[in-house]
Amino acid sequence: MTNPADTQDTKASSPAEFDPDALRERYRIEREKRLREDGNEQYVEVVGKFGHYVDDPYLEKEIDRDPINDEVDVLVVGGGFGGLQACAKLRQEGVESLRVVEKGGDFGGTWYWNRYPGAQCDVESYVYLPLLEELGYVPKEKYAYAKEILEYSQAIGRHYNLYEGAIFQTEVTGMRWDDSISRWIVSTNRNDEIRARFVAMANGPLNRPKLPGIPGIHDYEGHTFHTSRWDYEYTGGDPEGNLERLKDKRVAVIGTGATAIQCVPFLGETAKELFVFQRTPSTVDVRGNSPTDPKWASSLEPGWHKHRMENFNGLVSGVPQPEDLVNDGWTDLIGKMIGRFREASEAGEINIEEILDMANFDKMNEIRGRVDELVEDPEVAEKLKPYYRMFCKRPTFNDDYLPTFNRPNVTLIDTDGKGVDRITKQGLVVGDVEYEVDCIIFATGFEVGTSYARRAGYEIVGREERTLTEKWAEGMSTLHGMQSRGFPNCFLMHISQAAFTANFPHLLEELTTHIAHIISHAIENDAKTVEVSQPAEEAWVKTILEKGVGALGSLARDDCTPGYYNNEGKPNPASAQAVPYGGGSIEFFKLLAQWRSDGEFAGLEFGS
Ligand code: NDP
Repeated sequence: MTNPADTQDTKASSPAEFDPDALRERYRIEREKRLREDGNEQYVEVVGKFGHYVDDPYLEKEIDRDPINDEVDVLVVGGGFGGLQACAKLRQEGVESLRVVEKGGDFGGTWYWNRYPGAQCDVESYVYLPLLEELGYVPKEKYAYAKEILEYSQAIGRHYNLYEGAIFQTEVTGMRWDDSISRWIVSTNRNDEIRARFVAMANGPLNRPKLPGIPGIHDYEGHTFHTSRWDYEYTGGDPEGNLERLKDKRVAVIGTGATAIQCVPFLGETAKELFVFQRTPSTVDVRGNSPTDPKWASSLEPGWHKHRMENFNGLVSGVPQPEDLVNDGWTDLIGKMIGRFREASEAGEINIEEILDMANFDKMNEIRGRVDELVEDPEVAEKLKPYYRMFCKRPTFNDDYLPTFNRPNVTLIDTDGKGVDRITKQGLVVGDVEYEVDCIIFATGFEVGTSYARRAGYEIVGREERTLTEKWAEGMSTLHGMQSRGFPNCFLMHISQAAFTANFPHLLEELTTHIAHIISHAIENDAKTVEVSQPAEEAWVKTILEKGVGALGSLARDDCTPGYYNNEGKPNPASAQAVPYGGGSIEFFKLLAQWRSDGEFAGLEFGS
């Protein structure tokens, strides 16, 4: 049975004729314009006088508790999807002694912090939300809003009894391996000292907000905040909008990434004046959200969730599937590729690279065509058109963002790829115009590409007092991205040396299944330690380098406009090893499953 939400027409108009060489040249010019010497250094870290940007505005009450000094089997850092999925899998494997340490006031991670108006998951909820069958839950809409996802995260916490033992409003400040007792000693900002047999890092890939290092950013005297700590006290309203306190305010938003695309329509609805400062336009595809059909939900057969996740992952990885269950802007590119492939086969000329390129041009022409359809002023429309390859930057999906620029109170300030020139006491300067505003909202994203310790907020100190930062100074080194020699009983969850998928919780599902499998085996067999062997780690790094970036990696290749997908357009030799497995996520997941079913625990050393 089909969910009507999946069969609607989610596609924009058909592509116009185009000149591929002219487009290639235009893409090159747009990239050149944006390349900057300072790359990742252009951003300011949220410490010192910027530290308040990461304060928690959502806490109802600060916890007051005594320091904890005890021992657990597994300590998980982070109570977002990674932490929740790890704990769920560990519980399923029979591990009882678990503790989650979370800096927020509850479970939810990304969805705890990102409560800006309109915050919504733009990957289909039926494939994005984890553990749906385990909890017997079907999301309310095809694309779930943040509130539902936050509540669902809490439901996972309750289902697996994770509130017991979880410590919220607590930040890990140190993690040190004590060889004499074969335990990790985990310290926190609340003076806890917890001994853990195993530790698992679920800090999240995009957890640390970043600010643009625009000259004068210190000087501004109006109100400011980052989208991941939305100040409803100032704006009024809630994630559903009604930001009534902005009625008499002039508001600036810096940034036009996936976050801005979702919150700008709500700001435009109420602010007296809204200025959107754009450096690079996003691709804004059709959203087409709709409620879940209860008949469809009740017709779902056991196994449906994994099947749908795999179907989606196949399509966004460029692997044709018998059907497109999700059928949206994410999966549309593959449809275009197949169409082009068919045409080429009929003409008897198959050139895969050319087919991929032409399908990408088709898709981007469609995206640009949509801007013309929805934005009344042709000059504004032109500025909102992205000129780069699809997937150079994260695609976005929204039906209200583009029409917001038809409102008389909303102005697009396009900086022609240069960004805001200067911030003054009372506003922002682009070219020779100063825009005076009462409030600046930073929709400038999160740190990517900085050191693991900087993003996590603590060092992991392994055997012989060596930190992970020191070990990885010359390049990342792991087995399967999850374990690194010299750091026994320690598990990592991320894309690097693991896999990339557009549906991040799918990766977490596979990683946490694997981690729980290894930890429960070690516990059952009374192993004191589990650690990667030197040859296994070397072999995996070699595989990573040999496989290269693979098909998906090449979508965000070096000739793209700069952004966090390509280290701001600056190839970084130290990060050459920190790429996902080039064979793609499907192959990587199979490889992990095969490794587990072999039962050999190949490449791991268990110490007693
Ligand atoms: P991004 O990093 O995607 O966007 C930051 C924006 O700030 C970019 O438009 C960037 O421009 C702009 N910017 C940076 N510096 C300046 C400057 N000096 N002057 C002007 N503009 C500047 O952050 P987001 O918070 O939007 O999104 C981060 C990620 O979070 C997404 O990529 C996505 O993975 C995730 N997300 C997911 C959602 C979901 O539905 N699942 C929803 C929202 C976010 P430029 O492009 O030129 O660098």
